Amino acid sequence: MIAALAPLIAFGSMLFYVEIIHWELFPTSLLNVAGAYANPCRANRKQIEMAKTQWAADENKTVGDMPTDTDLFGADRYFRVKPSCPGGGTYTVGRVGEPTRCSLKQHVDQP
Ligand SMILES: [Zn+2]
Repeated sequence: MIAALAPLIAFGSMLFYVEIIHWELFPTSLLNVAGAYANPCRANRKQIEMAKTQWAADENKTVGDMPTDTDLFGADRYFRVKPSCPGGGTYTVGRVGEPTRCSLKQHVDQP
């Protein structure tokens, strides 16, 4: 009886082992998925930057002034809708002269 179960036990422990490997890889693969969207995210933030620069020029704003989302995004604004991070991050537009930031740490531009 025990002998008959041995292959099952071996198979079961193999599955268990695979499962452990899987869990170890899980956070890394999650980071890589977010990192894969870093370039389109950067492109979105560049567009927001352009809208912010244009807003500053149109409204006679200077460094340190902060636009609201309704200043930049809307039917009669620079973008109809606010670009969103393809990796699920949240954008902080920030003040004129400051970079637009993404909440995902993988998307923070390296200096
Ligand atoms: Zn992002």
